[in-house]
Amino acid sequence: MTSESGFTPEPPVFSVEFFPARDEAGSQRLLQAATELREMDPRYVSVTFGAGGSTRAGTLATVKALREQGYDAAPHLSCIGASRAELRDLLAQYRELGIRRVVALRGDMPSGMGPAGDLFHASDLVEFIRAETGDWFHIEVAAYPEMHPQARSPEDDLANFVRKMRAGADGAITQYFFNADAYFDFADRAVAKGVTAPIVPGIMPITNFSQLARFSDMCGTEIPRWIRLRLAAFGDDRASIRAFGQDVVSNLCQTLLDGGAPGIHFYSMNQSESTLGIWRSLER
Ligand code: FAD
Repeated sequence: MTSESGFTPEPPVFSVEFFPARDEAGSQRLLQAATELREMDPRYVSVTFGAGGSTRAGTLATVKALREQGYDAAPHLSCIGASRAELRDLLAQYRELGIRRVVALRGDMPSGMGPAGDLFHASDLVEFIRAETGDWFHIEVAAYPEMHPQARSPEDDLANFVRKMRAGADGAITQYFFNADAYFDFADRAVAKGVTAPIVPGIMPITNFSQLARFSDMCGTEIPRWIRLRLAAFGDDRASIRAFGQDVVSNLCQTLLDGGAPGIHFYSMNQSESTLGIWRSLER
């Protein structure tokens, strides 16, 4: 489709995030979900990494299993608590396996746990990956439309985001949010500072209110009051929570795509049903 200006919009890019399962049954569920999510033909899938290396083996094993399913699978990588030598070793391992994409993060360490590591910010990690491996990896980083909870101000956080992009990131995935305006405002401010790489909204399906409220408090995501009240009113009625959640999140995704977001990154929570339900509802 070509617009009047002659500009041909790119079709939206979809991607899906998993976390390493804790046991064999969880791994089977994850791989089943990944099989079902084939329907949406994700550009890539990614696998989270426990800061301090706590899921290092699990991340790698999950990435390998997803690659065996034919996916371009990207490990997340965090620098907090890691030495340069450890990071170099991990990157070499990924290169040997032919992995070409990583998601580079600072990570969060539970307070009082272990040494701080050699690198302090995600921008240091991006610089390190570029210095060590040139342009072998496509690097995604994290963005925070509602501000990272530890940032001093939205301006400061944006400046740090821009620094991370200039260090050599190819794209960004946002923390999840429920206010489309926060995303558009952030993306506009980033573009005004010269960021041209895609900033893809990270989207969390709503399936469980208490878990969502807990996560959101931790990562600084606002659940709008009307959504919080509606979800709380459903109590233990999980079917209604899912149905309402799917409506709300589908509308959010449609608003984002209609407003020019380059794609959607789904936080699948290792389940296919909600992500697929949202994806199927979208006019792409
Ligand atoms: P940074 O970009 O380093 O920012 C962290 C804070 O430091 C911000 O407040 C920023 O403003 C500030 N800052 C940055 N640079 C500077 C500087 N030079 N001087 C002063 N302040 C600075 N966590 C995991 O442990 N494992 C995962 O797999 C994982 N995956 C994620 C995927 C996505 C898409 C997102 C959005 C988050 C993910 N996280 C993950 C969470 C992430 O690790 C935390 O949000 C963490 O607190 C910040 O990581 P960051 O890479 O954004 O850090």
